[in-house]
Amino acid sequence: RKPDIECAVVVLGAGPGGYTAAFRAADLGLDTVLVERYAQLGGVCLNVGCIPSKALLHAAAVIDEALHATDYGVDFGKPRIALDKLRAYKDKVVGQLTGGLSAMAKQRKVRVATGQAKFVSANELEITGQGGDTQLLKFGQCIIAAGSQALKLPGFPWDDPRVMDSTDALELADVPKKLLVVGGGIIGLEMATVYRALGSEVTVVELATQLMPGADPDLVRPLADRLKKQGVSVHLETKVVEAQAGKAGIACSFEGKSIPDAGTFDRVLVAVGRVPNGGTLDVGKAGVRVTERGFIDVDAQMRTNVSHIFAIGDLVGQPMLAHKATHEGKLAAEVAAGEKKEWVARVIPSVAYTDPEIAWVGVTETEAKAKGLKVGVGKFPWAASGRAIGLGRTEGFTKLVFDEATQRIVGAGIVGVHAGDLIAEAALAIEMGCEVADIGHTIHPHPTLSESVGMAAEAYDGTITDLY
Ligand code: FAD
Repeated sequence: RKPDIECAVVVLGAGPGGYTAAFRAADLGLDTVLVERYAQLGGVCLNVGCIPSKALLHAAAVIDEALHATDYGVDFGKPRIALDKLRAYKDKVVGQLTGGLSAMAKQRKVRVATGQAKFVSANELEITGQGGDTQLLKFGQCIIAAGSQALKLPGFPWDDPRVMDSTDALELADVPKKLLVVGGGIIGLEMATVYRALGSEVTVVELATQLMPGADPDLVRPLADRLKKQGVSVHLETKVVEAQAGKAGIACSFEGKSIPDAGTFDRVLVAVGRVPNGGTLDVGKAGVRVTERGFIDVDAQMRTNVSHIFAIGDLVGQPMLAHKATHEGKLAAEVAAGEKKEWVARVIPSVAYTDPEIAWVGVTETEAKAKGLKVGVGKFPWAASGRAIGLGRTEGFTKLVFDEATQRIVGAGIVGVHAGDLIAEAALAIEMGCEVADIGHTIHPHPTLSESVGMAAEAYDGTITDLY
């Protein structure tokens, strides 16, 4: 069959990895096609992930701040929430970004093909449009960026709209009186934060021994304390063993250390992880190997086992984060264009945009202990930060983990408001091989929360100075 579309590079999937790869490839002079099954570009991140969740978390933060303002003599009264307007605000934020992407694709002459793609050979994709029409696309090189999807835990009545994954929860159909969140990781707790602020009674069950598995326990404690104060009911080392849809709600039974009082919920959000889409593309027809779990293995240049086919983003492995996908996308495009490069990032920061935020990068204290690494820790409690006191948010702290022998920073963890913004300095320090004293000697502006990073660097040898 004669191809309908021919190009030097095709990028399969228009999430943060895919659109970055396509734009970079086009900028480097390659004739590029971007294939996406949905009409809107932007993938999970822009449409049903990072961006809409942060728009809603902003609203949650404003609600909480307004309530807290009575502490300093400002009373806005009880917030009244117009859910339609909030939904429209979130959709406008998303639309602004996805619309911008379409314009950027046009500007760069990246052709966009809409439809579900699958491989038919090592140089061809078949793209099926919504009406069932198919197009054959012939490519010189391919960058697979098809992302991931929410894990639909078996045993839940998924055909009932009251059982939600994160995409459903972001739709904000209503504010359920009682919401059960299954999974106390980043996505589950971000959505718990939103719904709690909007007025839901939230129960969280988590199988692990702490919320936010992966982060150091001390970083999680201020969040756990605040959730408790706000009335969120958290149950660790506990799982849902049965969930049944009934008239009164979704009836759940639990097993584990801490069984929730309530058994019936108006809605249930299942946020227990994401599955890579590597197994859904017929990559075998191109000779590309995919693991049993759906991941595609790549080398340091993002090449799969078939050298003219690259893969990036969520489907090549953890951490499934947008900023990892974009960096990998840029790299794959540059290598496809003939640049001799490879992956050199030392660390990838993780952020939970909860309240307080939790951010960490590099080696955690827990990891260091488990691996028997000789590390020192500099910790600065925000109770001693003038800015944090002024904000009324002193529960945070900043810590730096450094190699005792070389004094180089190897990790950092921050909990507190804006921790996600503050962690970037530590990521840079690790990338640049900074010693802890380099941060200590850097003058940070006063009074800012960023000072806490400098103070954590000074704290390790007891030379801490007072911040007021
Ligand atoms: P995706 O964004 O998943 O994009 C893949 C694209 O490929 C999709 O558009 C899909 O439609 C398309 N596609 C798949 N199969 C086909 C096919 N056969 N044919 C055509 N097109 C196809 N990360 C962060 O860094 N920060 C955050 O704050 C954050 N918040 C999140 C909140 C939520 C609720 C969720 C679910 C995720 C969040 N993430 C966050 C993770 C982030 O969204 C992902 O890491 C990121 O989107 C991965 O990018 P990607 O390019 O690999 O794939």
